[in-house]
Amino acid sequence: MIELPLRDPCDLCEGMAGREERWAIIDEGEFTLTVINPWQFEIGQCCVITRRHVATLLELSRQECAAVMVAAKRVAEALVRAYQPLGILTFQNNGVYSGQETPHFHFHVVPRQPGSDWGIGPPQLATFDGAGRRRGTPHDSSGDAQRRERVRACASQLVETAALIRSNLPE
Ligand SMILES: [Zn+2]
Repeated sequence: MIELPLRDPCDLCEGMAGREERWAIIDEGEFTLTVINPWQFEIGQCCVITRRHVATLLELSRQECAAVMVAAKRVAEALVRAYQPLGILTFQNNGVYSGQETPHFHFHVVPRQPGSDWGIGPPQLATFDGAGRRRGTPHDSSGDAQRRERVRACASQLVETAALIRSNLPE
């Protein structure tokens, strides 16, 4: 049984309704929106979210599955143009035991750069060579609150970042 995180109201639904300015919109499709992630562990990291409030991959329709991947590829192309990253990482969490924090489907698309600090991200990220932690070092969660504070971008920065990515989207 997959345990879902609790968040009421849902911050992504609030963002789509325009009640949460930090979720600046980059791209829109029939089934998805691409938004900037308010926590910028990497500059430009964003999420493809479903318009429908569903929690996990398991609840997506076939059309939504396809739309998510199409939107992810579009924004990945924009991120490559905008930031010339070392790599593009995509990931998606289902349930609290996989690190899901918001009960609304979101697919992360992240431009990887050297020197980034992903201490509270998925474990594979924390061991990224050159990201500031030695491979195999266990995560010390005592600094998570400060880390989260440090990577939280202000609304104006998010709007600016979203605009840059948007201007690099393919036709
Ligand atoms: Zn929602």
